[in-house]
Amino acid sequence: MNKVIVIGSGIGSLSTAIRLKAKGFDVEVFEKNSSPGGKLSTIEIGKYRFNTGPSLFTMPHFVDELFEILDENPREHFNYIKKDITCRYFWDDGKKFTAYDDLEKFINECELKFDVKKSLILKYLKKSKKKYDLTENIFIKKSLHKLKNLISFETLKALIKINTFQLFKSLNEVNEKELKNKYLVQLFNRFATYNGSSPYKTPGMMTAIQNAEKYYGTYIPEKGMGDITNSLFNLAKRHGVKFYFNSNVSEIIINDHIAKGIKVNNKNFYSDIVVTNSDVYNTYRFLLKDKRRIKALEQERSSSAIIFNWGIKKTFKELDLHNIFFSNNYEEEFDYIFNKKELYFDPTIYINITCKDLPSDSPEECENWYVMVNSPYNNEQDWDKIKVELKINILKKLNKILGDNVEKYIEEEKITTPLEIESTTNSYKGSLYGTSSNSIFSAFLRHPNFSSEISNLYFCGGSVHPGGGIPLCIMSGKIISDLIKT
Ligand SMILES: Cc1cc2nc3c(=O)[nH]c(=O)nc-3n(C[C@H](O)[C@H](O)[C@H](O)COP(=O)(O)OP(=O)(O)OC[C@H]3O[C@@H](n4cnc5c(N)ncnc54)[C@H](O)[C@@H]3O)c2cc1C
Repeated sequence: MNKVIVIGSGIGSLSTAIRLKAKGFDVEVFEKNSSPGGKLSTIEIGKYRFNTGPSLFTMPHFVDELFEILDENPREHFNYIKKDITCRYFWDDGKKFTAYDDLEKFINECELKFDVKKSLILKYLKKSKKKYDLTENIFIKKSLHKLKNLISFETLKALIKINTFQLFKSLNEVNEKELKNKYLVQLFNRFATYNGSSPYKTPGMMTAIQNAEKYYGTYIPEKGMGDITNSLFNLAKRHGVKFYFNSNVSEIIINDHIAKGIKVNNKNFYSDIVVTNSDVYNTYRFLLKDKRRIKALEQERSSSAIIFNWGIKKTFKELDLHNIFFSNNYEEEFDYIFNKKELYFDPTIYINITCKDLPSDSPEECENWYVMVNSPYNNEQDWDKIKVELKINILKKLNKILGDNVEKYIEEEKITTPLEIESTTNSYKGSLYGTSSNSIFSAFLRHPNFSSEISNLYFCGGSVHPGGGIPLCIMSGKIISDLIKT
């Protein structure tokens, strides 16, 4: 076996292609768009540059590893800056909080703004780290769907400490009990959105997510988020991975339950192994023409988002790279997103302003605002109507908290709804992170990285194990590479 075809060129695909190349395979990537990266891309509007998808970069060592396995020094090709401030938080009542990277400063700020004891925060963070450490190797770095991985010393160690995981309480219940202060609870509840879930449904285990930000820190690539894609794409090309763009794969060729290749524009391309980075739902329904009821495909999708890219003719000193303006009623907001499947009238607003760290991303004395609100996945809502109403609600909230009239500074605008996310990246229902983690079984019900019915067919990216977000998608490539024997 020596030839691998990968369908799609998202971050999960790039990780897989690089790792399989390092193992000696010939790798070819077929992408329907004209450029690589899928969700992890950037756009230019007038003189402004914006991210199209991910804006938060953590665990950069996972990217570095991809250079290292091909014996390259990542620092010669890809560099990033560690942020001193991870995020600025704002509430309607005037409360503000700066989340510092430095633990001492973070805790001092908690004491000052929320009147909580140092020991309480330290205990909470320590517990979250323990959850992460106990599960990293079981849930993130290996296939959950191979018995030999589950029967291990690590699993036994985790099972003995099962109470540590707080599986039978929601993240919100755990945070309310342990953090006590309503602002802090909301702040730490927000980490459920890092995998598109609700803090009122996802289990207490998910306090582990904030460990990625608090323990590893947050970063910005020196050339912007798009450079994660570009530098990995160039790395893959330097080592001989072949890319075919504008190549929409219409079918995976199966012969006698063995994957044999793909079909693009009615032409067959054969390989020994096929890896699909296309959303698992679309892979089954369209590429495998499989219409059966499959449990993994019926899992609740993660949340989606509406994004306003605004070129702003002003600078706002109180804002940083990452900024959050919280809703007054977080519980109701998530009820709207996941139960009613509607946009909440008082949404939590995230603003990403990359020119704070990368000045060339906007003209002088201007800022590139990427304004994102979590939304339900596409359930055939009237997105044209929703985006008009949402813009009014966003501006009302921002004007109140910032004490200004933001609308008068908007000189460029592009609005992205779940519909566009779905059509540009083939992400089923426009979900950002594949399936949600709104149940304690979510991790087990996510589709494995291999097919148990079709030999030589593998799955990578955010819609399969271990889940969405840049670090986990990169790990899906590692798991596949460990599963494929040379
Ligand atoms: C708005 C938004 C904000 C986000 N914020 C963050 C964040 O801050 N931090 C973070 O870590 N993550 C974030 N995420 C999630 C993160 O972007 C994704 O989990 C990750 O990028 C998904 O990568 P992937 O490998 O699944 O591929 P995708 O990015 O989904 O790409 C799949 C690729 O496959 C191609 N493709 C699909 N079907 C076919 C076909 N039939 N033929 C050929 N090509 C095909 C698509 O065109 C696409 O290029 C965000 C996502 C979005 C959309």
